[in-house]
Amino acid sequence: MSRDLAKWAKEKGVKYFMVSFTDLAGAQRAKLVPAAVINNVVEGGAGFAGFAAGFVVTPAHPDTLGMPDPEGAIQLPWKPEVAWVPANCTMEGEELAQAPRNVLRRLVAEAAKEGIRVKTGVEPEFFLLAPEGDKVADPWDCAKKPCYDQQAIMRRYDMIAEVSNYMLDLGWEPYQSDHEDANGQFEMNWKYDDALQTADKLQFFKFMLRSVAEKHGLRVTFMPKPFLQLTGSGMHAHISAWSMDGKENVFFDPNGELGLSQKGKHFLGGIMKHASALAAITNPTVNSYKRINAPRTSSGSTWAPNTVTWSGDNRTHLVRVPGKGRIELRLPDGSANAYLMQAVIVAAGLDGIRSKADPGKRLDIDMYQEGHKVKNAPKLPLNLLDALRAYDKDSTLKSMMGEDFSRAYLEVKQREWDAYSSHLSTWEVENTLDC
Ligand code: GLU
Ligand code: MG
Ligand code: MG
Repeated sequence: MSRDLAKWAKEKGVKYFMVSFTDLAGAQRAKLVPAAVINNVVEGGAGFAGFAAGFVVTPAHPDTLGMPDPEGAIQLPWKPEVAWVPANCTMEGEELAQAPRNVLRRLVAEAAKEGIRVKTGVEPEFFLLAPEGDKVADPWDCAKKPCYDQQAIMRRYDMIAEVSNYMLDLGWEPYQSDHEDANGQFEMNWKYDDALQTADKLQFFKFMLRSVAEKHGLRVTFMPKPFLQLTGSGMHAHISAWSMDGKENVFFDPNGELGLSQKGKHFLGGIMKHASALAAITNPTVNSYKRINAPRTSSGSTWAPNTVTWSGDNRTHLVRVPGKGRIELRLPDGSANAYLMQAVIVAAGLDGIRSKADPGKRLDIDMYQEGHKVKNAPKLPLNLLDALRAYDKDSTLKSMMGEDFSRAYLEVKQREWDAYSSHLSTWEVENTLDC
């Protein structure tokens, strides 16, 4: 039996629900519904004009309905009279295939057919900027090597501790926060969970972080590379797969290579096989490729992958195996859609298991320094267009993510690329004017 939201609201003192869905670009869109009528919305949905709400439909289409998922409701710790509830989108009684949460729910069900629950932990990195968004907010945060800067994180203690305390209250088991490798850049971590729950939590985290930061006069950005000379922001995913009862990590084998089971190796093989196409989802913006293909930053490394290679506990590759029974995909960045990113990981991994994909030999070298010595190491896409083309070519991944979804996604992203390409940059004027 699913939770009776009206009753739950009464018990918790919730007066309003933010009925929220995530669009193709990853943005959250919502309606504020009084708790007294929430059960009508659970039955009949909240109406949205899909055309205005970031989906590939026209103004002539019937409403997109946001159907709240009562189990996902979270009371806002910073505003307890409001609760956020994730919604699944429908149109004329059918699930809207292009809605990101639906794509992920479908893939979670596919994984269940294979007898596994994919669990993930995400590592959101972000910058804290001045409200105008043009510079790091803290003028003292200017060390050349700012990683783990104790003094700088202490200057943000009030804000970070507030968010961390909320996560503790919500039972998310946060376990660390740090100052990252760029000035003004931070990361906050909480415990891994089932892929759908992790995606919901990440969306709620972004909402919560922004709300608290704004209260402190700060602007949060998850943009992958807001400053060219500084390290970018990743959204690494730590991945394992479990038996349906959640008791056994099926990626774990104490005798396997780096503690990975055969199933874990095949899942990894699927990630490697689909890596270039997958980038269209995990690295979905023009700016994403400025993180992946960046020269080393002022602190000495990008920490982002640019080749389709894997290794043990080594941060210079696409996939790191940091411990037994778990892999870390280092490709996703902060602009990735929380649901689609999880969905494409599950899709690629499942195909890997089904096709018994071989990840190839692991490379235990510093890929930044010695990468040139590796013959034919496949490169990740150089820009968004290359990634979109790779996705379009990957018929297996496209059909696993859903044909309707893939069509809509490619259309939106191609439009984005075209808009970017028709922009005249200062660089090209400076370098071409006198040619
Ligand atoms: N910021 C780096 C990236 O863009 C990751 C640093 C780390 O390993 O935490 O992926
Ligand atoms: Mg990090
Ligand atoms: Mg990491």
